[in-house]
Amino acid sequence: MFFGDRTLAEARAICDSVIHTGRYLTKNVLKGHLRPPASLDPVPLSVNRSSMSFFDLIVVGGGPAGYTGAIRAAQIGLNTAIIDKREVLGGTCLNIGCIPSKALLTSSHLYQFASHQASRHGLKIEGVTIDLAQMMTRKQGVVRRLTQGLELLMKKNKITRLFGVGQVVAPGKVILTKPDGTQEELQGNSVILATGSVPMELPNITIDRQTVVTSDEALAFSEVPGKIVVVGAGAIGLELGSVWARLGSEVTVIEFLPRIAAFYDPDVTQVLQKALEADGIRFHLDTSVTGISMNNGKATVEAVAKTGEKLQLGADKVLVAVGRKPFTDGAVAKDLGLQLTEGGRVAVDEQYRTNVPGVFAIGDIIKGPMLAHKGEDEGVACVERIAGKAGHVNYDAIPNIIYTNPEVASVGLTEEIAKQQGKSIRIGKFPFIANGRALANDETAGFAKIVADGKTDRLLGAQIIGYGASELIAEAVSVLEFGGSAEDIGKTVHAHPTMSEAVKEAALAVHNRAFSIPPGAPAQQVN
Ligand SMILES: Cc1cc2nc3c(=O)[nH]c(=O)nc-3n(C[C@H](O)[C@H](O)[C@H](O)COP(=O)(O)OP(=O)(O)OC[C@H]3O[C@@H](n4cnc5c(N)ncnc54)[C@H](O)[C@@H]3O)c2cc1C
Repeated sequence: MFFGDRTLAEARAICDSVIHTGRYLTKNVLKGHLRPPASLDPVPLSVNRSSMSFFDLIVVGGGPAGYTGAIRAAQIGLNTAIIDKREVLGGTCLNIGCIPSKALLTSSHLYQFASHQASRHGLKIEGVTIDLAQMMTRKQGVVRRLTQGLELLMKKNKITRLFGVGQVVAPGKVILTKPDGTQEELQGNSVILATGSVPMELPNITIDRQTVVTSDEALAFSEVPGKIVVVGAGAIGLELGSVWARLGSEVTVIEFLPRIAAFYDPDVTQVLQKALEADGIRFHLDTSVTGISMNNGKATVEAVAKTGEKLQLGADKVLVAVGRKPFTDGAVAKDLGLQLTEGGRVAVDEQYRTNVPGVFAIGDIIKGPMLAHKGEDEGVACVERIAGKAGHVNYDAIPNIIYTNPEVASVGLTEEIAKQQGKSIRIGKFPFIANGRALANDETAGFAKIVADGKTDRLLGAQIIGYGASELIAEAVSVLEFGGSAEDIGKTVHAHPTMSEAVKEAALAVHNRAFSIPPGAPAQQVN
């Protein structure tokens, strides 16, 4: 009601200018009371349901972006097909990404707990050994359950599931090349590209996938390597480095930047680095890999630090984890001239339209963080736009998580970025060591940190490093989405004893009002 007949962009502009009106910017308002952007006409619904090869929507790529978009399309009533060249849906995330990595993180954490921490709880667990084959079988079982569940979801939503390589050859026309080489022509009112990403390589390193590997292989080693060098201290390198370090590998991480997980504030990454070092991981920061030589299946990694110091590190495996690159090879015929950005991402407008008429793009292949949940929400928003609804993704409120121990999670602006943007801010921090549940859990590492607007108190961002940070960050995401303030978090009742009380206390610390740390403690800063 509040936004009347305004477009989404107009409504957001109003929200930005009115302090705390975010509480009114609920998803319901967005969905129910805004007209869709005038430039995007709804597609006609199900004009030819009888033909197997005609669809309202064809989705190329069955990862989180593609399958979520397909399900939303089916909910809206669009006759939808989804194509993937993998035998199973789920894309990188379910098959070789988010899910298998978390399965191994959990198993390796339990091993570490049983070997080193259980005795602190008075538990005597002797002779703990690793059955790596069973660990991998469990991981694959988790993947299988989820991917099979997806196939069932497609069926129940009456989405046509096609196996093969899809290529857009003309607006509204897709050629499906099946595994046996036969081809089928499909027609669709709209086509969404969601073809995802693949590991990035370095020009001076040859990845042989045996000794010098990507995350794909590091999720499935058949034995625990003696020595691993990880190139890149981002989420994937740190998570997989943690898995193998916990299982007994000697892990060394080489990072080009001066700090690990550089996306987060330095006070956060310092705690993370210390914790990972305690797990036995060694770091060489400000250091670039210059080459890798091979001898009898073993690698020697050569690197040079910014100081000029040269390094040579022997390794049984080298994990190259320097990021991922968008994958669009063959998805669109060359003569259609699909426009890419400098970084090779597909160029899209605000409505996810590419320069090819009727062809949209979402997920890792377009700008923004390469994260499953970002792709999922784009899938929903893109389909809703196609169907004439007011779909929307709030790119300022996308959480980012590293599932190490402790976990690290953030949303919105970091302190560093807020300062670079010249914002007046107030910071509140609260250490888990002062939280009752954290002590009871024996998980006292880390802290919660709130970045609030110095004048209005509006929440600008939050970072949490600690046990369960991946779950705790959801509160800050919601408050950010609804334009709430630090005070809103501080005045919300949080159950006791929970780790979430640390988030509340960090919000109270913004105004030097935390209850469980002394007034004026260094954690409470004004900038
Ligand atoms: C080790 C690892 C851990 C990760 N952990 C997390 C995490 O914890 N949280 C998180 O948010 N993200 C995580 N990610 C990133 C996440 O996996 C990706 O952001 C996400 O999968 C991207 O989704 P997508 O749908 O855009 O593409 P993808 O998941 O890559 O799916 C694209 C699909 O398109 C198919 N395809 C490509 N071209 C064609 C074609 N022409 N025809 C038919 N099919 C085609 C591919 O086979 C693939 O299945 C992780 C990634 C890795 C590698």
